[in-house]
Formats: sequence, structure tokens, C-alpha cells
Amino acid sequence: MSAEIDHLHTDILILGSGGAGLFAALHAHQSNPELDITVAVKGLLGKCGCTRMVQGGYNVALAPGDSVERHFMDTINGGKWLPDQDLAWTLVERAQERVRELENEVGCFFDRNPDGSVHQKAFAGQTFDRTVHKGDLTGIEIIGRLAEQVWAAGIHRLEEHRALALIPAANSDRLSGVLMTDVRTGKLVFVQARATLLATGGGPTMYRYHTPSGDKSCDGMAMALRAGLPLRDMEMVQFHPTGLLAGNDTRMTGTVLEEGLRGAGGHLLNGEGQRFMLQHDERGERATRDIVSRGIFHEIREGRGTPKGGVYISMSHLGSDKVRQQFKGMVERCADSGFDLAAGQVEVVPTAHYMMGGVIFKPDCTTEMPGLFAAGEDTGGVHGANRLGGNGVANSTVFGGIAGDSMAAWLAEGQQSHAPDTETLEAAARDALLPLENEPGSLLEIQQALHALMWDKAGILRTKERLESAAVELEALDDRLARTGLHDAESLAFNLTWHDWLNLRNQILVSRTIVQAALSRENSRGAHYREDYPDTGDLETSYYTVTELDGTGSIQVHNRDVQFKRIAPGESLLEDEDSGALAASGQ
Ligand SMILES: Cc1cc2nc3c(=O)[nH]c(=O)nc-3n(C[C@H](O)[C@H](O)[C@H](O)COP(=O)(O)OP(=O)(O)OC[C@H]3O[C@@H](n4cnc5c(N)ncnc54)[C@H](O)[C@@H]3O)c2cc1C
Repeated sequence: MSAEIDHLHTDILILGSGGAGLFAALHAHQSNPELDITVAVKGLLGKCGCTRMVQGGYNVALAPGDSVERHFMDTINGGKWLPDQDLAWTLVERAQERVRELENEVGCFFDRNPDGSVHQKAFAGQTFDRTVHKGDLTGIEIIGRLAEQVWAAGIHRLEEHRALALIPAANSDRLSGVLMTDVRTGKLVFVQARATLLATGGGPTMYRYHTPSGDKSCDGMAMALRAGLPLRDMEMVQFHPTGLLAGNDTRMTGTVLEEGLRGAGGHLLNGEGQRFMLQHDERGERATRDIVSRGIFHEIREGRGTPKGGVYISMSHLGSDKVRQQFKGMVERCADSGFDLAAGQVEVVPTAHYMMGGVIFKPDCTTEMPGLFAAGEDTGGVHGANRLGGNGVANSTVFGGIAGDSMAAWLAEGQQSHAPDTETLEAAARDALLPLENEPGSLLEIQQALHALMWDKAGILRTKERLESAAVELEALDDRLARTGLHDAESLAFNLTWHDWLNLRNQILVSRTIVQAALSRENSRGAHYREDYPDTGDLETSYYTVTELDGTGSIQVHNRDVQFKRIAPGESLLEDEDSGALAASGQ
């Protein structure tokens, strides 16, 4: 039986309305206002995704004394020499142009110094205070203004439309368009486009504790894998050390308590009331995110956790009035969940925050598949083994804008629309509707099993044994999901159970790439820590992992050498090696 599929046509199809998607739409429109541009998004435009959640800010070298070279060095050092140097250079160089565009064209207002210059605050891992911000609601300012510009430009919107599969053109390796479903009606729709941008924003939501928005389930990476595209650096998942631990029944669990709390002198205490971070690093609680996350995980694993399974953050020794004044937003967030941050103790746990890995792409945002472009958190290579706080939103807006320019330029060359390969299209539709044919089962149990195994076996501390066990469990979960149906399958209109099934299918596939890449990397770099291989490995012979889905459905991993094009380990682009200000805040 073949499912009914509506057809739409557009020149440029953009998947996702975060910083990457919206900037791409605006740039493509500016390049050629005659183009028919459509932004298709799983949620509501301007209201979903992680760019809107950005609190801390945006890294860019603007101030006298700072430079793109310095920002570049920080990015390469922070990424433990694994970033693609052309991508990292593009990020730091074009961030200067993009932040001016945000203020002067898009209409954002960032905080300023008394002399009128843009205020830039300190973030962890940076040798200069370069993080531009709007209080601690930077993302709302950026996405709010960008969404207004997109509406004003007359760009088409397909809101609450979920991309399901990338469909190649008939008899060709190029992309024809994207199979989607209209979440409101449950109908399938194929959007054929001359150029398509993947900007669905990654998001490590397969871990028990995570920070990203609920609409993210690694859909872009999963679609890319199924379309035969390679992903890189998938073992590199960044954990933020202090996620709020407020119980299983609230979405507040996992949300970030900012690093400024530790920077200001906050203490982490185990369930027995003892400080433990000084045993792991002489900087104690002010050590970098990866070290603090490992220290916390170690305490929990050794049975010294709190009743809910985390540790405590304690600020009261700094003076409760001072804490209330300095961290008003954090105090209120904790109070909403029943904790007194200023005078008491708050339970926290490391929380999965960001995926450094993603689709392999070039500085002009092209991918290996003609017609498919990629930008933002769906892509890999910009950050290497670790992302600096403040480089995430810079990444999505810089490369989103470049993608818009590149797609318009590509179409200006005369690239035409290509009809889809109907067999692949129909197979993708059948695949999405698979749960309708199965006996109903518990998706919650599958989700909880996934969260537990990724947290316990493929999270902060990894070993061969635990990763191998995770791989076996993931295969079994995948099989189980494929046999599980929906309890409410009468209508697919706003059928969130169906979307849970689709989310899980993508999360399991991408989890398999994380586990296989983590197994293959037998050293410890940045966010990836192997207890059985604690050394970083030789910097000069650094390599990155590439994962692909083969024809049998297995994940293949191979390594490629990092090209030190602009700088090699031990060299510096800077005349002085003054390390400048190092701060302990960052998101
Ligand atoms: C709590 C939090 C705080 C952060 N703070 C900072 C910070 O201070 N500084 C910083 O630099 N970075 C920060 N980050 C990281 C930053 O938010 C991201 O790196 C960046 O914004 C990602 O942008 P994006 O456009 O790639 O994705 P997003 O902004 O996440 O947008 C993805 C879009 O894709 C849509 N989508 C998803 N799946 C589908 C699908 N199947 N079909 C159609 N649409 C789909 C989503 O609905 C959404 O519109 C933070 C992240 C979080 C979670």
C-alpha cells in the first residue's frame, strides 16, 4: 500500500528556525528577493530550538587588544586540536561581520559599556573578555528580532512541519527534496526544492539529563545518516556540570545553573556534605566543565550522591544577600523547584548540553550531497573535541548566513528542481508509518531505557566494556522500537505519541554513532573520556572519527587526519602569549 503524499515546490527549503535557519533565510532573500524561500520547522517559528534559550552570549573579537587570531587560538586550544581549522577560522572571522549585522540590520540591542561600546563579558576557556550579550536573555533578543525580519521579508513558513527524510532525485546522487509531515493534520507532504538547508540543531536529548529544547531529537543527523552522509566527531558530547536536579516529573530537571555560581566561589558537596573537587583538580570547582562533570559523576558512582542522585551546590557561605543580588535569575529558578540557592543547598547533576559532532560540511556550507547544505549544531568540525561557551550561537548565525549566500549563488548558476526517486520516497513514507502496523507498546519504557544506558555507559566516563554493552542494548532497543506500535493510532493529527516514536528512532540511531565513535577513539580528548585510555594521544598525529551507516544498517567508523593548515601544535598566531583574563562563566 502506498501512502498519500501531498507535493509542494519551493526554490529554497530551510529545515529549522534557529539562528542557522533564520539567518540563512534572510541572506538568501537579500541575495535574490525573487527566490521562493520556505522555512519548515517542527515547532513555531521564533518559539522553538536552542538559539532562543541562549542565556550567556555570543563570542566575537571586537575590543581593542582582542583579535580574530586570539579567538581562533582559543577555539583550537579549547577543541583540543581537533577542529577543522578552515571552519574555525571562518567562525571567528565572520563573527565580527555577523554581530554588526545583528545590531545594525536585524535590530538587536546588546548591553553596552558607559562609553557606548558593546559590553563583552568573560567566559571560560577564553584569553579575552569577548562574549557579547543582552543581560542573560541573549537568545530571545536574537531570535525575536530575526523572526520579525523573516516575517517582514515575506518568507514562507511551514510551521509545525516535521522533516522525516531526505529524498534523492531519480537516477542521481543529488537531493530532490524532503519528506515531511504536517504535525497538525498528520498528513505527509513532499517538499521539492532546488536547494535545501539542514539546520535542525542536533541536541543530545538521548541522555537522562539534558539541556536542549524538547523539539530536538537529532533529526537532522539521523536523516543525513540514512541519506548516506558521513558524520564526524560523534563521540564528542559536551556535559554542563550543574544541571538542576528537581525530580523526574519536571522538565526543570537538567536545565542549566550557570557556571558563574562556581566562578563566584560556590562549593560542590557530595551527599555526605564533603567538598570533593579539590581531589580532582587544584582549581576545585573552578576547573573546566569536563573535569568538574567527571568529578561529580565519580562521586555519584561511588555511592556518595544526594537522595535524587546528584550532588549539592552550596552558595550560602558567600552571604545570602549577595547571592540573591548577584544571581537573581538563578535564585528564582531554584525557588520555582523548591530550592533555596541563596541560603540552602541545591541538588545538581551534569547534564548533556551540546554535540560537537555532526554532518561533515565545508566552510561554504556545502555537503557531500549536491543540493544539500548544512549549518549550525547539525554540523561537525567547527569545535573539535569541545565547544567554548559563546561559540555555539556564533556558529549557527555565522554559518547560517553563509549557507543563505551559498544557496542563492548555487541557484544563480541555474540549478534546477529535480523530481524525487519515487521508490525511496514511498519507502521513507512506509518507514515513518511503521508503528501503525504494530501492536501497541510502551514508548516510555524504551525512552527510559535509552536515557539510562546512554547516561550510565556512554556518558561522562567511558570504558570499552560499558560501551560494548551499550552497543548491544541499543541494537535491542532499536529492534524493540521497530516492533512497537502506538496506543492512539486512530488519527495522526497532533499525535504526539507518533512523534515520540519518530524521536526515539532518530535518537537511537544517533546514539549508535556516539557509541561506535567512542569505542573507536582509544584516547581521551576534550569531552570524550575513556577510563581505560586516559591519555590525550599525540597532538601532532591528531585524527577525527567519521561515522557512516552502511547498506546493511551497521555503523562504520574510520579515522581521518586533522590538517594543521593554519597552525600546528606548539605554534602560536599571537605575538605575545599573555593568557589574559580567564573566567569561569559560560554556556
Ligand atoms: C540552555 C542552553 C543555553 C545555551 N547558551 C548558549 C550561550 O550562552 N552561548 C552559545 O554560544 N551557545 C549556547 N547554547 C548553544 C546554542 O543554543 C546552540 O549552539 C545554537 O543556538 C544552535 O543553533 P541552531 O540554529 O543550529 O539550532 P536551534 O536553534 O536549536 O534550532 C533548531 C531548529 O530546528 C527545528 N527542528 C528540529 N527538528 C526538526 C525537524 N525534524 N523538522 C523541522 N524542523 C526541525 C527546531 O524546532 C528548531 O527550530 C545554549 C544551549 C542551551 C540548550
